[in-house]
Amino acid sequence: MSKNYRISRPLLFLYLIFTYVIAFSLWWAYLLHSKNKLSFDELVEVKKTTFLLNQRVKETDFYLSADYLKILDKFNRQKKMIFSEGAFFIGILVIGFFLVRRSLVKELQLVNRQKNFLLSITHELKSPLASIKLVLQTLLKRDLEEDIRAKFLHNSLYDAERLEGLVENILLATKFDNDSYGFVKEEIEFSYLMQKLKEKFETNKNLKSRIQYEIEHGIFMMGDKTSLTSLIVNLIENALKYSSEDSPIEVMLLKDGDEAIFEVKDLGNGISDEEKEKIFDKFYRVGNEETRQTKGTGLGLYIVKNIVNYHGGSIKILNNTPVGTIFRISMPLMISN
Ligand code: ADP
Repeated sequence: MSKNYRISRPLLFLYLIFTYVIAFSLWWAYLLHSKNKLSFDELVEVKKTTFLLNQRVKETDFYLSADYLKILDKFNRQKKMIFSEGAFFIGILVIGFFLVRRSLVKELQLVNRQKNFLLSITHELKSPLASIKLVLQTLLKRDLEEDIRAKFLHNSLYDAERLEGLVENILLATKFDNDSYGFVKEEIEFSYLMQKLKEKFETNKNLKSRIQYEIEHGIFMMGDKTSLTSLIVNLIENALKYSSEDSPIEVMLLKDGDEAIFEVKDLGNGISDEEKEKIFDKFYRVGNEETRQTKGTGLGLYIVKNIVNYHGGSIKILNNTPVGTIFRISMPLMISN
C-alpha cells in the first residue's frame, strides 16, 4: 500500500473516539478545577467574614493568616492533583492511541496486500496454465514440424517451472508462517548447488549472456538444499525482473573468513531507502497494483529473509553503482573438525 493511503473507516472511527475521549477528559479536568476554585472562593469568603468580625483587623491581614494559608494550600494541592492526574491520563491515552493506530495501520496494510496477492496469484496461476493448455491442444490437433514442436514444448516447460516456483514459494511462506519448517539441515556444498543452478539458468540462451557468475569452489555449509535453492532463484529472478532486459547481472559466491557471501547485483531502478525497510514484509510490493508492470506476489523476499534467518545469516541491500541494487547475504560456513 502506498504511504498516502486514504483514511479508512476503522481509522476514522479510532480518530473520532480518541478526539472525543480527549475532549471529554479536558472538559472534566476543567469542570473539576472550576468546582475546586468555586469551593475555595466560597470558603475564603466565609472564613474572611468570620475572621474580620472576630479579630477586627484589616482585610489584608486575613490573607496572611494561618486559616487562609491552610485553605490556599489545600486548594493548590487539589489543583495539582487534578492537573497531574489529568496529564497522566491523557499521556497514557496518547501512547495507547499511537499503539492501537500503529497496529491498525499494519493490519489494514496487510489486508490490502493480501487482496493484491489474491489478484496477482490468480493471474500468475492462470496465464501459464492457459498457455500450457493451448500448447497441448495444438500438439494434439496438428502435426507440427519438429523444431516448432520443440519450441512449443520448451515454452511449456518454462511455464510449468514458473508454476512450480510459485507453488514452492507459497509452500515455503506457509511453512515459515506456521513455524513448521520441516527442513533438514545437512552438509551441503553451496558452491555445487550454485553451479547446478547456473547451468539451469544457462539453458536459456538470453540468460547465458546476461548473467555473469563468480563462484568460489569448496564452500560447505550446514543447510537445507530446497530452501537455499529457493533463496538463490528468488534473488536472481528479482534481479532479472527489476532491471531492463539488456542489462547485465552479476552473481557471486565466495568465502570471507568463516562466512559464505552470496551477492546478486543488478543495474535496475534500485530501491529507495524507505522501501528497503518494507520489501521483506509478506506480500509487500513497491508501487501500487494498478500501475505495476512486473509480475509477482510479494512473497519472494519474505521467504528469502526467513531462509537467511533459519541459516543464522544476515541480509543487506546496498545501492549498486551507477544504478541498481546489490543483495548481499552472509551465512556461516560449516565448521570443519
Ligand atoms: P515480487 O517480486 O513477487 O513482487 P518480492 O518479495 O520478491 O516480491 O519483492 C518485493 C518487492 O521488492 C518487489 O515488488 C520489488 O518492487 C522490490 N524488489 C525486489 N528485488 C528488487 C530488485 N533487484 N530491484 C528493484 N526492486 C526490487
